Amino acid sequence: MPRIVKLSDRIQYLQVSYEPLSADVVAVRGDSAWWIFDVGACDMAVEFINALPRNPVNGNVAVPLKKNVVISHFHRDHLLNVVRHCHGEVSLDFDTLYVGSYASKVVGEMCDREKVTVTSPLSFEDGMHIEILPIPNSHAKGSLALVVDDEVFLGDATYPMVGHGTPDVYNVQILEQQIKMLKTLEPSRFCLSHKRELVRDKDSVIQFLESVLARRQKNENYIEA
Ligand SMILES: [Zn+2]
Repeated sequence: MPRIVKLSDRIQYLQVSYEPLSADVVAVRGDSAWWIFDVGACDMAVEFINALPRNPVNGNVAVPLKKNVVISHFHRDHLLNVVRHCHGEVSLDFDTLYVGSYASKVVGEMCDREKVTVTSPLSFEDGMHIEILPIPNSHAKGSLALVVDDEVFLGDATYPMVGHGTPDVYNVQILEQQIKMLKTLEPSRFCLSHKRELVRDKDSVIQFLESVLARRQKNENYIEA
C-alpha cells in the first residue's frame, strides 16, 4: 500500500504505487491554495487529492484554499486522473490545471476547469515561493518542474527517454542544457518521482547527470542510460 509521507509542515506526498502504475502525488499547502504536483493514475490518488481540506481552520479563521494542479509531463502514470476526470470516470476536486504543451494536448478541450499551458516560467508568492518551470529533458517533451522554497519537484525529467525494447537514452545536447539549468536553481533538495524516498540533494543529482554526460561518444547524439 502506498503511504502518505510528510516532508514538512506544508508538504506531503502519496507514494508511487503499481497496478496501475501511479506516480507520486505531491501536495503543498500555500496560504491561498494547495499546489498539487501530478495526479497519479489510481483511485487512491483521487481520494488523496479530494481529501485535501479546502477550509482548514487557521487559528479562528477558516481560510478557503483553492486547488491548483501542476502536471509534470504527459505520461499516464502522472496525468491519467485528470483525463479520467475530463471523461467523467472520476470526480477530481481541483480548480486550475497547469500543464506543459504535450500534456495540454493529451488533456484536450474536454477539461471543465481552467487550463493554463505553461511554456515559460511562472512564479507565485503564496506563503512560500512557488515556481513552475519548463525543463529541458530527454524523457518527455514539455515537462514542468515545481519549485517550492528549498525543494524542486522534477517528476521524471532527469530520466532518459524510455526505449521500449531498445536502450533508454539521453540526448546529449538536451542533457547539457538540463545540467546547466539545474545548476542555476536555488533549491538544494531535488525530488525525483518513482524513488523510494523522493528527496535527493542537488549536488548528487547533478553529479549523476554529469557522469552520464561524461560517457558521450564523439559524433553520437545519444548516450545509453
Ligand atoms: Zn514519465
